[in-house]
Amino acid sequence: GCRHVPTGPIEMTQCDFETVESVTDELYNNLHDLTSTPFFRYFRVDLYRECPFWSEHGFCMNRECGISTIDESEIPERWRSASLSKIEMPPAELRDSLSGCYYRDSDYCFIDDPKEGEYIDLIENPEKFTGYAGPSAHRIWDSIYTENCFGISELNHLSESNPEPISAVDLSTNDLLQSNADSSEQCLEKRVYYKIISGLHTSISTHLCHEWFNQTSGEWAPNLQCFVSRVASHPERLRYMYFNTVLLMRAVARLGPYLSAYDYCSCSSDNHEEDAYTLGKLSKVIEISKNVGQFNESSLFKGENANIVKEEFKTHFRNVTRIMDCVGCDKCRLWGKIQTSGVATALKILFEMDEKALDPKSNADLLTRSEVVALINTMHRFTESLYFVNSFRRIWANVADDE
Ligand code: FAD
Repeated sequence: GCRHVPTGPIEMTQCDFETVESVTDELYNNLHDLTSTPFFRYFRVDLYRECPFWSEHGFCMNRECGISTIDESEIPERWRSASLSKIEMPPAELRDSLSGCYYRDSDYCFIDDPKEGEYIDLIENPEKFTGYAGPSAHRIWDSIYTENCFGISELNHLSESNPEPISAVDLSTNDLLQSNADSSEQCLEKRVYYKIISGLHTSISTHLCHEWFNQTSGEWAPNLQCFVSRVASHPERLRYMYFNTVLLMRAVARLGPYLSAYDYCSCSSDNHEEDAYTLGKLSKVIEISKNVGQFNESSLFKGENANIVKEEFKTHFRNVTRIMDCVGCDKCRLWGKIQTSGVATALKILFEMDEKALDPKSNADLLTRSEVVALINTMHRFTESLYFVNSFRRIWANVADDE
């Protein structure tokens, strides 16, 4: 039940649950402040692309599914599309040669054209319960888990697998896929892929259960039953959320020098104080990530078909970022896009970049502002979920005491 607190090593990392727990509050508080700074709170995203996979769209009519956008004039000038496009847009001939309307294929992710879309203040549009559910939402999750089907690679990786215990949980389709993912017959990469997706799903569920709207009382309050049925009764889901957090910490740790050299200044009035504040919070996040984010990415993509497996991994993840265009609730789509691009950015750092590529001097344009904003906001989401899990543990303890 809810009292279940995972202990011991986090599978596939060099880190344990207790260590992550010991830094959760500090990491969360710093990320919370960091994501409130102007650089990290404004995000431009194109939310109204066509769903590339099926024509039917589910529409969420609830008020909470909506988002508020802000006018470009409220955005510091250097982050507006006109300035961004000077740096980010590839030449027209290259753009035309790309399929779909995405302008840049960034390995693990389709990135929106920075000239399209609207500006959103993320603080004003927090991830919470929206009421989006039913066949449309299930279709999205189903499609995402179906991307978990790897082809040729599985057969060739039998020998590399490292079995993990399968928990006796329910036998829904995804959990069956999960059992497969944990079984000794699946390659390491496929299991990592499943953990990432399921951990993301868990984080979204934790948010909507904690920031829950009780339609009967008309009040916002954490819903313990929601958390127990979706998360706590499936201990492996909770573990994957920790896994995701470690993965992101590892990416941020490796990106440390690059992120520290990035320009966060809105520079309207040479506001160095704002810059120093952002950098101060960021260095705390980097420091904690360095100490705790122990994940050895070089143990992946090593087998005899390593390149094929990697290509498959990338294609699958890219498709997940595109499936987000099919999410029938604006706010869910917004956070779905941010978090899939945040994870995609982390994967790109871990699996595509060597130390030279990460060097801020020789590769200053490694990441776009959108990627940096998505990465840090995604880390904030996952850490907030761990923080909410602790809040649910306290609620559970109070309920148990009352009985
Ligand atoms: P779902 O969460 O829809 O899950 C479907 C099935 O997947 C379950 O029956 C179970 O078998 C399996 N499953 C569930 N969790 C996991 C897991 N962690 N790992 C593996 N398998 C699992 N709703 C909001 O209120 N606010 C939001 O911000 C929001 N954002 C969303 C973003 C995206 C990208 C998507 C696709 C949906 C979002 N939703 C959001 C909807 C929400 O995720 C649920 O789909 C909805 O609440 C219905 O929940 P459910 O209980 O039917 O199960």
